[in-house]
Amino acid sequence: MRRHRIAAIGGDGIGPEVVAAACRVLDAVAATDGGHGFAFESFDWGSDLYRRTGRMMPKDGLRRLEGFDAILFGAVGAPDIPDHITLWDLRLAICQGFDQYANVRPTRLLPGVSGPLRPELGAQIDWVIVRENSEGEYAGVGGRAHRGLPIEVGMDVAVFTRAGVERICRHACEIAMSRPRRRLTVVTKSNAQRHGMVMWDEVCAGVTAQYPDLQVDKMLVDAMTARMVMKPGTIDTVVATNLHADILSDLASALCGSLGIGATGNVDPSRKRPSMFEPIHGSAFDITGKGIANPLGAFWTASMMLDHLGEGAAAKRLMAAVETVTARGEALTPDLGGSATTEQMTDAVIAAVSGANA
Ligand code: ATP
Repeated sequence: MRRHRIAAIGGDGIGPEVVAAACRVLDAVAATDGGHGFAFESFDWGSDLYRRTGRMMPKDGLRRLEGFDAILFGAVGAPDIPDHITLWDLRLAICQGFDQYANVRPTRLLPGVSGPLRPELGAQIDWVIVRENSEGEYAGVGGRAHRGLPIEVGMDVAVFTRAGVERICRHACEIAMSRPRRRLTVVTKSNAQRHGMVMWDEVCAGVTAQYPDLQVDKMLVDAMTARMVMKPGTIDTVVATNLHADILSDLASALCGSLGIGATGNVDPSRKRPSMFEPIHGSAFDITGKGIANPLGAFWTASMMLDHLGEGAAAKRLMAAVETVTARGEALTPDLGGSATTEQMTDAVIAAVSGANA
């Protein structure tokens, strides 16, 4: 039996609640499959640990995660601790330390869930947004001078390396080739930013040329926002810089209903180090501890993780179970207009997983 070692980091707020639900569902999927299983190890890293020890994760945190096959992450962020600490000292420390340079976000409007677009347009959304996750506008290069003076200056320098652009574009091409439509949109802003973005275009053109079966187009990021709303069916796989994809991803999740549904993977395609999978929602302190967090984002996350682990059939079965539950419109949590608890929704998905296999 294939046994996958998973590090479960619930983190803050509703993170531990949805990660626990995802572990239950993963065990249920494995039980109906028979060919694989999981060994979960939980890590209580996050804001509570920070309050006790002054660290979001132990000093040797990365070393402790190294041997796992994947990381299942919940959420991070607390009202009384600055974002730059909660984010940079845990989530980003793992993303950067393990060089998880591709942030991959699938987007679909699940059956039964209503988004803000007209239904016939919403039904056309079936995208994967591939975000450069290691450099670009978030490279952290820059500085401030003349602090407090009228001539104060603040600068952030966007860093694009040939190797960085090449590897993210290649990963996006591979994803696009694995999907039926074989279509990739390269997002850019080279009309205004004439150095790094022009190089981005050149490098992406060189990489995509190596995929003759791929239908490739290039789009300015501003025009891309309009296209996502007006012509969602013309888009399949998208590759964009750290900042551009950050913004496009939020638009994508808004077009797909609740924040509680979306999932993302921080992937090291070289597979030298573990990749990390997480729901896109945050800590949601307003509902923490009430038992009503929507766990579907964590389930979609778990499905992405299964795919990454080579359990493609199990990944599909899990998503089919999630879609069965949303389509029925029963056992929905309050954010989706229902009155179910996290546990009831989890039970419904587990029942659908078993049913799907019967
Ligand atoms: P962060 O800065 O950590 O991203 P945030 O407050 O900007 O936090 P969220 O924590 O994701 O964003 O919460 C935004 C809103 O969406 C909150 O009202 C929250 O209750 C709701 N929400 C987020 N995730 C879920 C979920 N899984 N189930 C139900 N509601 C959710």
